[in-house]
This record gives sequence, structure tokens and C-alpha cells, in this order.
Amino acid sequence: MLLYNSLTREKEVFRTAEPGKVKMYTCGPTVYHYAHIGNLRTYIMEDVLEKYLSFSGYDVLRIMNITDVGHLTSDGDTGDDKMLKGAKREHKSVMEIAQFYTDAFFADCEKLRIQRPAVIQPATGCIPEFIEAVQKLLGKGYAYEAGGNVYFDTAKLDQYYRFHDFKEEDLEVGVREGVGADTNKRNKADFVLWFTKSKFDDQELKWQSPWGMGYPGWHIECSCIGMKYAGETLDIHCGGVDNMFPHHTNEIAQSEALLGHAWCPHWFHVLHLNDASGKMSKSKGEFLTVSLLEQKGYSPMAYRFFCLQSHYRKSLVFSWENMDNAQAAYDKLIAKIRPLLDAQGEPDAAKLDTLLGGFREAMDNDLNTAQGITVLYDVLKSDADAATKRAAIAAIDTVLSIGLLESAQAMTDSEQNQEIPAEVLALVEARKEARKAKDFAKADAIRDEITALGWSIRETRQGTEITKL
Ligand code: AMP
Ligand code: ZN
Repeated sequence: MLLYNSLTREKEVFRTAEPGKVKMYTCGPTVYHYAHIGNLRTYIMEDVLEKYLSFSGYDVLRIMNITDVGHLTSDGDTGDDKMLKGAKREHKSVMEIAQFYTDAFFADCEKLRIQRPAVIQPATGCIPEFIEAVQKLLGKGYAYEAGGNVYFDTAKLDQYYRFHDFKEEDLEVGVREGVGADTNKRNKADFVLWFTKSKFDDQELKWQSPWGMGYPGWHIECSCIGMKYAGETLDIHCGGVDNMFPHHTNEIAQSEALLGHAWCPHWFHVLHLNDASGKMSKSKGEFLTVSLLEQKGYSPMAYRFFCLQSHYRKSLVFSWENMDNAQAAYDKLIAKIRPLLDAQGEPDAAKLDTLLGGFREAMDNDLNTAQGITVLYDVLKSDADAATKRAAIAAIDTVLSIGLLESAQAMTDSEQNQEIPAEVLALVEARKEARKAKDFAKADAIRDEITALGWSIRETRQGTEITKL
């Protein structure tokens, strides 16, 4: 498989340290608010990558952290502490906020068919590991104490900047008006490993450390959590493009300083989803969440389809018009797949292999999901029999995960429901009334009448299900 590597800025043949095994790390969410659909674009594309690696025969160990402590909007002691801000906004404790939005994140993931990584590790569960790492960095001379905090000394590295052409000047970005630069730093690019003296006096989560009561910097969590579960090397590390600098740059700096050797050879970055105003934000205007899409009548699967229609290395613009188009195209595709549900017999193995070959070719070319979707239409147009087509679509959907056969089945079910005769619907209403009035004898009698007309009725918590007998 050819996959673009942001570290070398080239498409490379993807290789792992141990043949057949992938150790994959994903920067997880900062759980101070709902994820916006931009964040979820990144997780959708990473999910496709994980599933395609599995499809290609790899055994994938995927690790994700949950940032439930700290995470300043910039890398020093500047900007806002997002978790603290969330807690203040909702008058809850930081841990309550973290739990609520962690659950909300995974609920969104489930709707979008994003598989849970094998390892999910909240940062607050690894404080001893972070302290040990900071101690080691101090011991090796890569860190220093100043003004009560511990900083990483970027001047100790031969090469600190890794991605693109980031320069020191870029570091001014993120230092907001009214917030002075951190005078404790020896070099502009230095970053905090452990805070004890912070401008956030009301920081709720604090732990005892050799440097006093405090809390970890953001970057150290990914280095330590990666090493805790994957050992001294990773095969691939993923995140959104904004993570490249400073977060991933700092992760590499710390990890390689700790290990004394290279840490992760392949870096996978997903470009942003932007709205018309430019950047997607959780604070300004309409906050785009999966729930908002649903409220407006779009299915989460149509959003996933929308994401897959474009390449992960291109920025994607969100608009309601684009979403309308995606939903319409998705519904049309499902309608085309529907007749395959009744397919009889076994798939033709040779034909199936050819059809899947087209999919592999697309995905092996730097995870070209847009081309992968085109292959679905090729399958539908091919001269293969229905059973083979259905098998090809099912196999491709183990990777794309846009619920193709399930949505086709749901469409069939809802159409069947629409064909319920008026006479039966009237009886269903009458039964509802009887049940409300607790006249169960009458309700039972009505059920018998419904059955006699060839329909079955079942009341569930979700509502009444009427099906043909
Ligand atoms: P956060 O919760 O802020 O740590 O972000 C979670 C993930 O979403 C990270 O991998 C970010 O790089 C990514 N991300 C942030 N904004 C966007 C966006 N507009 N489009 C795509 N990914 C994003
Ligand atoms: Zn990270």
C-alpha cells in the first residue's frame, strides 16, 4: 500500500516493524465539549485507515488517548485551559465534564460507525507514567525547572522542527493579546512538561509530584500512552493537520529524547473540514454536531459518505447544500443496492476477487476513498450475478462502513410499513386507545382482528411495529 507520510512528505510503501502487525496511535479528543463534525472527519478517515489495514491482513493495535486534563489552547502557559473552561461553563467538575463528553464522543462515533480503538486511555489514568518520563528527561538533561514548572529544552536537539517549514516566528500564534510570553522559557519553542505554577490558580485536577502539586503538559500524555501500550516504537501515528505543530513536533522531541532512538516512522494527517467562514469552531455561530445533522434530517451515514467522497489530504468545505447532495447521492446508491438483498446462491469467487481488486487498487493508492466509492458503482454496473455483487458490496463496506446493506434493508422495511392498509391502521389506532383506557380485553380483541387481516402488531419502547405475517 502506498501511503503519504507527512514526515518525509512523500507517498511511501507502508511497512511495519513486525510483518503483519501495525501499532497505530491516534490523538484522541479533548473532552470539554461535543466533537464537531470536523473533528469527526479526522476520526472517520483514521477509522477507514484502520479498517483497510485489517482488510489487507494486518493485525492492528490501535491506541487512543482521551485528553481529560489540561490541554491549553497554546503550548505554553498561555491561552485557555479547555477543560477548565468547559467545567466553568456548565458548573460541573472537570471529571464530570470529561465523563459526559467522553460518552458523547463515543456515542457519535457509534452513529458514524467509527470502531472503538483497542486501547482507550484517559490521560488522568497515567499520571505516574508522566511523572516518571519528566524525571527521566530531567535526568538526561533534556528538561529544566524554571519558575516552578518543568520545561523541555528544544535547543538540546539536533532537529526540533519536523513537519513542513515551521519557524520560530510561528510560535507567536497562539499567544493571545493580554497574555505575555512565558519568561521562564530558555528558548521560544520550549514547552511545559509539568506545571506547578500556572496562571490557572483554580486548576481542579492536581497531583503530587517531585516539583510540587501540579499537572502535566498536554504533549507528554501521547508519548507516554503510546509507549505504555506499544513499547518503544510505533508504526504509524495519526491526527488532524493542526496537530502537526506544535503537538506532534513536541511528541517526537520528547519521545526520541526519552528513548534515544527514532520513535515513529510514519505520520498520517487528515486535512480540515471547514465551513463557509473558514475554520470550524465550537464557539462561534452554529455548532456543527452529529445531533444537529440528525435534527435537520440528515443521516450520520450520509455524513460519513460525504467525507469519503473526498481525499483525506484535501481540505473539505462543509455547506448544507453539499450535505443535501451527499444525502441524495447516498439514498440513490442505497436504492440501487436494494434489489441485491434478495440475491440467491453463492458468489462467484473469481468475479468477486476481480471486483475487490478494483477496490484494493483505489485504497492502495494513498487511501483513495473517493475512488473506492466509484468502485461501488462499478460493482453495481458489472455483469456479475446479484449474489456476487452483494458479497462485493458487503466486503467493501467492512472498510468504508457506510451501512450499505443495513440502510437498504431499512428502506425496504419502511416501505413495507407504508403499504399497511387503512383498515389495519384504523385498528392499530383503536388498539392504542383501548390500551390507554386500560381496556385490555378490547385491545386483545382488536389484535385478533389485525391478525385476521394478515398483520402482526408489536408494541416496543421505540413505538409500534406492524409487520406482514
Ligand atoms: P481536539 O478535540 O481539539 O483535540 O481535536 C480532535 C481531533 O480533531 C484532532 O485530531 C484534531 O486535529 C482534529 N480536528 C480539529 N479541528 C478539525 C477540523 N476542522 N477538521 C478536521 N479535523 C479537525
Ligand atoms: Zn497526541
